[in-house]
Amino acid sequence: MMPPLQINAERLRSDFEALSRIGATAEGGVSRPALSEAHLAARAWFRERAAAGLEVNVDPAGNHSAVLRQPGARKTLLLGSHLDSVPQGGNYDGSIGVLAALEVLRTIKEAELLLPVNLEAIDFTDEEGTLVGALGSEALAGLLKEVALRHPRGGRAALEAGLARAGLKESHLLEARRDPQSLAGFLELHIEQGPRLDQAGVSIGVVTGIVGSRSFWFTFEGRANHAGTTPMSMRADAGVAASAFVVAIRKIVLEQFPQCVATVGQMTFEPGAFNIIPARARHSLEFRSVDGDALENLKTLLLERACSEAKKQECRVAWEQVANWNPVAMHPAAQAAILQSAKAQGVETLSMPSGAGHDAQSLAHITPTGMIFVPSVKGISHHPDEYTEWAHCVQGANVLLGAVIRMATQHER
Ligand SMILES: [Zn+2]
Repeated sequence: MMPPLQINAERLRSDFEALSRIGATAEGGVSRPALSEAHLAARAWFRERAAAGLEVNVDPAGNHSAVLRQPGARKTLLLGSHLDSVPQGGNYDGSIGVLAALEVLRTIKEAELLLPVNLEAIDFTDEEGTLVGALGSEALAGLLKEVALRHPRGGRAALEAGLARAGLKESHLLEARRDPQSLAGFLELHIEQGPRLDQAGVSIGVVTGIVGSRSFWFTFEGRANHAGTTPMSMRADAGVAASAFVVAIRKIVLEQFPQCVATVGQMTFEPGAFNIIPARARHSLEFRSVDGDALENLKTLLLERACSEAKKQECRVAWEQVANWNPVAMHPAAQAAILQSAKAQGVETLSMPSGAGHDAQSLAHITPTGMIFVPSVKGISHHPDEYTEWAHCVQGANVLLGAVIRMATQHER
């Protein structure tokens, strides 16, 4: 058997080093929030690198692509990730997926390999949610809603300023939508951003699905009163009710929903003083799982528990659901292509769900989608210390190359 085709690891390395200098921080990471000057500079660099031998395309949502057309092909296989970062982020999140995708196209072109589908290495706009969150991939998948643009999580001013800097028109963003019939699939290489592969000593993760999540604001209402003169038996303490609920959330998840994680990341008490019993406690709650039924069952149980904890303290509780993302499965054909490619490269794999959201989540709604993970040392991500062994980046790129060839050849011209 012929050894599988390999990417040019030195060229990938020199691209990685060049990109890491754009928006570099003193801490050794990068800061390239979506459509900031640093992010736009990274995109200009990408256009330049892509133009050396490939077609360059920028769509109405600002998604940047390098395209390798194949004679007579009607469909396009997408591969890629994102070049934006969180503020004070690391060098690998998103970038390694875009650079590997570009390198895969160059390798296939140089090998003069003819495939029945076009290949497109894509850099999606605003994956990290500085502005809206998965803006580019949702626009391409036809999932972006105008309401998300009216109430963007980064605020209207930031969105308007970013679009203006990038020369993008808000009224044209939705035109980035692609006909699912024009697509042959989507493959994304990404760092795991968690510790599982690193702990297991396995270099390739085959993603089975991406978690869904539910997000809420809870408000417990009690009665403010004097902290010195009100007996403990005569209080309606909203702070105690909310705190008891938070402790109960952890216990319920640990004991009954081992497939879920739940987090209360913010809480405030009002009026907020040493000597006043809290009249109001407001907190966030987010929970995630790859199991959609588990999410709904957990939601029911938690809402009941919020009511009973409020009642115990003679308080009332109200909630507002602010986000609802359903879990998505990665396509069996894409998972198989990744597994076979890894096997041909002689690397061990671990099949695992993704606990973080990715552009693949958008694409999975419209086309067969798969994701490859490479290990994050100690599971660190969204931090300048984010690190993936270079050998693992190269292995990931080679597994992507093999998976692209396998996915592509499943299609008719
Ligand atoms: Zn990412």
